[in-house]
Amino acid sequence: PRTPLASLSDDELAGFLAEQQEAYAALRARGLKLDLTRGKPAPAQLDLSNDLLHLPSTATDRDGVDVRNYGGLEGLAQLREIFAELLWTSPDQVICGGNSSLTMMYSTIVDFLLFGGVDSPRPWSQEEKVRFICPVPGYDRHFSMLASFGIEMVTVDMHQDGPDMPAVEALVKDDPSIKGIWIVPTYANPSGAVVSQEVAARLAAMPTAAPDFTIFWDNAYAFHHLTEVEAKSADILTLAAASGHPNRPIMFASTSKITFAGAGVAVLAASKPVIAWYLKHLSMGSIGPDKVNHLRHVEFFGDAEGVRAHMRKHREIIAPKFAAVDEALTSGLAGLGVAEWTRPTGGYFVNLDVLDGTASRVVALAKEAGIALTPAGSSFPLGHDPRDRNIRLAPTFPVLDEVRTAMAGVATCVALAAAEKITADRSGPT
Ligand code: PMP
Repeated sequence: PRTPLASLSDDELAGFLAEQQEAYAALRARGLKLDLTRGKPAPAQLDLSNDLLHLPSTATDRDGVDVRNYGGLEGLAQLREIFAELLWTSPDQVICGGNSSLTMMYSTIVDFLLFGGVDSPRPWSQEEKVRFICPVPGYDRHFSMLASFGIEMVTVDMHQDGPDMPAVEALVKDDPSIKGIWIVPTYANPSGAVVSQEVAARLAAMPTAAPDFTIFWDNAYAFHHLTEVEAKSADILTLAAASGHPNRPIMFASTSKITFAGAGVAVLAASKPVIAWYLKHLSMGSIGPDKVNHLRHVEFFGDAEGVRAHMRKHREIIAPKFAAVDEALTSGLAGLGVAEWTRPTGGYFVNLDVLDGTASRVVALAKEAGIALTPAGSSFPLGHDPRDRNIRLAPTFPVLDEVRTAMAGVATCVALAAAEKITADRSGPT
């Protein structure tokens, strides 16, 4: 076992720093060009769905609907049935839309701003202030979306079973300007956390000052298991309905990381009044979705079990990459007391927390060595990580060997930045 860096004598620390500087020089000399920035499926994962390129085999669906024509704003019935089963709701509470759930989240918030929701006293744009609770670390695009609307973000900590509930409950209780919260309930981006049944029940039941407080339940990774123990998402729609807040949660999902990231199908699920509200506004901007793509997906999956079976093929491709991340970090950093990281059981990310005040330095060092990492702080609103310690790793896109190489390099950068920082802290003004 290694000695934690902070416990080394000054001489030992100087020796460690020199070693890391040497290792880093060797890393730079390799002239790598590797990218761990975004959670994209690898080409081998996309290949799993290549049959879609030859589907659908017919122009009419099971019910005789001609998918080539206009209409059917809520999406193809058979696909809604599949997602209803997967998300534990009923088909009339599911809308299948275009290729992006992020677009559905965006238009949902625009509708709240312009028109108000089912339970809103007035449009959010007429409120003096609108604020959202943002569990951190979280998904950068959720935060940049809110920032673009001028919606204020209040952070709470994301724990392994969901957001810090006492903090959430205290915020929503008395302050009617708190209108929403982002939740990625299953294998969260980036922490891998899974919202427990208990936390979900509290979110559903908690008293809120705003009558139209909304849970944006972004279940982007609902089926994206990395082990045989498949986490089940809490049934937020039923919990909320049972607690007397049926319109509180709006659920989103998509097949972006199931079939094709650029040509999948996005899904929204909610109470029937919320579905009617969403469709009413959608109908002003659309005559119907791409039902050809819907039918293509119906034929490809067959049924809900088809989706689950397909996800097991993804697991075979990406689980070894997550194992490689853990191996590289363990071999480079375990025992040094300068890093903690997650071993997610699903999703697309590993959350790496380095020594406070060194994340930006690690990302810069990696960049110099040809390893692109997501900018430090990107998992926080406005890109600001108050402790400058959080780094999101996305190992799915590169091939396995590249993940190994890149992560060994990242470990070197983490150790070097930590040694530099501890050295500087010791020689600083006393
Ligand atoms: N939500 C989360 C939490 C994500 O990580 C992502 C990125 N895949 C998205 C939404 C985007 O989903 P879509 O491709 O359906 O827009």
